[in-house]
Amino acid sequence: MKYVVCVPDGCADEPDERLGGRTPLEVAHTPVLDALARRGAVGRAGVIPEGLPPGSDVGNLAILGYDPAVHHTGRAPIEAAALGLCLDADHIAFRCNLVTVGDDGTMVDFAGGHPDSAAAAAVIADLDATLGARSWCLDGHEGRVSFHAGVQYRHTLVAPAAWAEVECVPPHDLTGQPARAPRGPAAEPVRALMEASREVLARHPEVAATQIWLWGQGPQPRLEPFRSRWGIEAGMVTAVDLVRGLGVLTQMTVVEVEGATGWYDTDYEAKRDAALEHLAGGLDLFVIHVEASDEAGHAGDVDEKIRALENWDRRILAGLVEGLDALGPWRLLLLPDHATPLRLRTHTSDPVPYLLVDSTVDGPGGVYSERGVADRPLVAGHELMGRLLDR
Ligand SMILES: [Zn+2]
Repeated sequence: MKYVVCVPDGCADEPDERLGGRTPLEVAHTPVLDALARRGAVGRAGVIPEGLPPGSDVGNLAILGYDPAVHHTGRAPIEAAALGLCLDADHIAFRCNLVTVGDDGTMVDFAGGHPDSAAAAAVIADLDATLGARSWCLDGHEGRVSFHAGVQYRHTLVAPAAWAEVECVPPHDLTGQPARAPRGPAAEPVRALMEASREVLARHPEVAATQIWLWGQGPQPRLEPFRSRWGIEAGMVTAVDLVRGLGVLTQMTVVEVEGATGWYDTDYEAKRDAALEHLAGGLDLFVIHVEASDEAGHAGDVDEKIRALENWDRRILAGLVEGLDALGPWRLLLLPDHATPLRLRTHTSDPVPYLLVDSTVDGPGGVYSERGVADRPLVAGHELMGRLLDR
């Protein structure tokens, strides 16, 4: 049996006025997905446990079958793992966005104008050389920090463990609002570092970002490897460090694909082919993650969100089903890691629709949409991996 997990990031939504009260999942032309839903089983999954932030770290942790309420220690330490950073107990990681804050203090762009990764890496190197060389004080204790370049606007700061006691607002929740500074016992050095970054960014007019924004901090979690937890070999493809970090921490085979961008223009076919290639090559399970639908949600872009779903259908699912059939019996699980409603332009904790398909047994059938699963019982997201694997 081969297993595929499909994650259209943030694809779940709300009825939208611009779509005549329908959702992108209901409007998108997805004949392959519709057919899979008719032969499978649909349901409603709670991927974000109560009290945890509705992020891709929490949602994807659940999708991989690890209860986020038990294992989640923060978002940034997962991304740090993706960069190959192994943190000791004396250090934590912060997500370090390059952001654009207007002269009036408004969070104009949490993505700092989407700089390309090479330009961003030069900025991060300058930040590390300038601010990493200084000592930052918290309660009389001197501490050092280091900056590590990731992808586009998404980077990592490693800081002393004592800096964990601070409340930071995710910058994508501040779009168009005053950029609220961090609060709490450890806020002082975090604020000072963000403030000091402005002088460094001023030296880099080639990027639209004006400063760094620190958030999502925590120590690195110790996760049981996927192979010992589930007894099978798994791999994944994603363009997002956050999701890749979960693959690294669970010791999955993390496949790099040329043309995977984390943006609308990502190479869908290359991800599909990577899945089929590695399943044919001996892996038992493969996770395909595509970020485009989430980015469209954040942008409030109705057309791109629909296009992302149609791209899934035409450029991944169609060929995937064909390729899986050629390999033998298979099962598929499809669900987003959280909802990113177009109207709200940020993540929510709302339950999301899931789809389970077994190539050898027909399910009760259904419609894969928010409305299609509205009356189904709520399943904890981290239990779906067990259902997929029949454990
Ligand atoms: Zn996500």
